[in-house]
Amino acid sequence: MKLLIATGNAHKLGEIRAMLVWPGVTLVGMKVYGRPLPEVDEDAETFEGNALKKARTLCAATGLWTLADDSGLEVAALGGAPGVRSARYAGEGKGDAANNARLLRELDGVEDRRARFRCVLALAAPDGRTWTVEGRCEGRIAHEASGTGGFGYDPLFHPDGGTQSFAAIPAEEKNRISHRARALGAAAQAWQPILAGVD
Ligand code: IMP
Repeated sequence: MKLLIATGNAHKLGEIRAMLVWPGVTLVGMKVYGRPLPEVDEDAETFEGNALKKARTLCAATGLWTLADDSGLEVAALGGAPGVRSARYAGEGKGDAANNARLLRELDGVEDRRARFRCVLALAAPDGRTWTVEGRCEGRIAHEASGTGGFGYDPLFHPDGGTQSFAAIPAEEKNRISHRARALGAAAQAWQPILAGVD
């Protein structure tokens, strides 16, 4: 059977391919799908809502089983912000540096630096059934950026149990403990029996 991976991000597609190896399941990227697919506005108020919306929309457009994800950063002292607005925290199209600068401004003088990354994966079947799994990575927001790897809020995020930021540790280590890796690990287990019975 074919499983459409509803992400335009080549890096995420690579991570998903490395983690989800199921006998009889061929993962299909959006680029190789071959015809234009609908853009999905990520306007839900939860990660789960956005992931389900993407999975359902692309499944309906293609007739294929579809997997989609949504992820972001939640900061305790900011009531869970930036949350589903992580990508556009400093404004539409502003980018990672501006988002990180705003986060540091919002936390200026704040002692409680606890934060977590969350990733929700959604699976949609052509008959309308859906499933979700979630991965989390707990940590804290540093007072200044460090490291040159990763993307997004990685230079400011220090996972619990470590002394360095996600941007300073090797990519393989991040990919072992990240929210996305944990969500993919959960999906690999939970969804194998569901997909095993599909032609
Ligand atoms: P999306 O899941 O691609 O929509 O990601 C939303 C936003 O969350 C990204 O643009 C980043 O700002 C942030 N984010 C998600 N995962 C990570 C991560 O692993 N490191 C740093 N930032 C992340």
